[in-house]
Amino acid sequence: MNAFSNALAQLKKAADLIKLDAPILEILKNPKRLFEFSLPIKMDSGDLKVFHGYRVQWNDARGPFKGGIRFHPKVDIDEVKALAFWMTIKCAVVGVPYGGGKGGIEVDPKKLSVSELERLSRAYARALTPLIGPDVDVPAPDVNTTPQIMAWMVDEYSKMVGHWSPATFTGKPLAVGGSQGREEATGFGGFIALRELLNSLKIKKSTGLTVAVQGFGNVGYHVARLLHEAGFKIVALSDSRGGIYDKKQKGMDPKNVMQTKQEKGLIDGCYCVGTVCDCENYQAITNEQLLTLPVDILVPAALENQITEKNAGRIKAKIILEMANGPTTPEAETKLLKKGTVIVPDVLANAGGVATSYLEWVQNRQGYYWEKKEVLAKLEKIMIESFAAVWKAGQAYKTDLRAAAYAVALERIGSAIKAKNS
Ligand code: NAD
Repeated sequence: MNAFSNALAQLKKAADLIKLDAPILEILKNPKRLFEFSLPIKMDSGDLKVFHGYRVQWNDARGPFKGGIRFHPKVDIDEVKALAFWMTIKCAVVGVPYGGGKGGIEVDPKKLSVSELERLSRAYARALTPLIGPDVDVPAPDVNTTPQIMAWMVDEYSKMVGHWSPATFTGKPLAVGGSQGREEATGFGGFIALRELLNSLKIKKSTGLTVAVQGFGNVGYHVARLLHEAGFKIVALSDSRGGIYDKKQKGMDPKNVMQTKQEKGLIDGCYCVGTVCDCENYQAITNEQLLTLPVDILVPAALENQITEKNAGRIKAKIILEMANGPTTPEAETKLLKKGTVIVPDVLANAGGVATSYLEWVQNRQGYYWEKKEVLAKLEKIMIESFAAVWKAGQAYKTDLRAAAYAVALERIGSAIKAKNS
């Protein structure tokens, strides 16, 4: 299972569907630029350790490259290429004036001290300096990279170029030019996409629909919290170490699970409200078990390749809201579509993150900042319009929502390439 070959398979399916011009397909099959870095870091012990980093700039036909930075032991060039390609599609789906890029470092940040993490983040920002900028390439957070890491990076970049340049990174803390609402933006965008889907499917009563969320980080937590607040029942949650299942399907408050996770360091099989824990009606589950639970909605919000040919047949959810990038392989998707599962694809479902990064970039460039209410209202409008465009393309091409989203994106990127080359 290679994320990049999955991405290419998705591109080919949509290109065939809309009969995309061959030269445009050729451009989109390949990165514009691809960089690899060696990052020597002095560890706290005094030893020198060399880390490997990447930045892939996939396509900039519609604007500067845009995409997050991932810190994970399994980061490799193929994963970064896939993520950069998906960013190109995603930015076009939500109509923000960017191309796509992505970066990463092969590292387990949990094994670094805070000062080692800062040195590594700053070293990566220095390596990126000649390659990025507000009109060139605008990085952001992704898995295991936080607003604090963005603060170190924007500081390092600004020192290197000799002036303060907040619009070069998004996902920053508020104190250094971050946007109100950015922290929950990806989850909020997914929540709006799901609401629009239920409306389009004419499912009037969402209260009581059961939901399992795989991945309880930034994205998983906020989407679970918003769904819970809207009356959905969150019956399973997990992180990399495993999860919890609410056997009676009464619904858990994700805030309580987060509190337990913070106190114990992991999500176990007990549901605690304050100091009172219920271990009888809840059970510990693995990530694999979570995916096949009897729920209405499955939300993969962790990493790629979780829903595969192997487990697709056992997935019971009727709706999959892809908050992670690339959680479903093309083979699994074929099986799921055959049995009528509706998949809200990553390039739409999790696009609230980059849409709000765009709003942060606009605020940085104009030097005028909006209230949270205003940011979320702008994001909601973007998500409603993007969902409507994708739904309409799905009806027009009589196809699934991923192929429809790609159709919308490819038409927009194709127009930009043609306009520049005609
Ligand atoms: P994060 O680092 O905050 O959280 C990731 C979570 O996934 C953690 O809870 C981790 O324990 C868990 N996890 C890791 N491996 C797992 C596994 N095998 N099974 C279950 N859980 C596992 O990262 P995030 O920012 O929440 O990103 C999650 C996903 O959303 C990624 O695919 C990312 O690319 C995508 N995404 C994030 C944003 C954003 O704004 N943060 C935007 C768009 C897409």
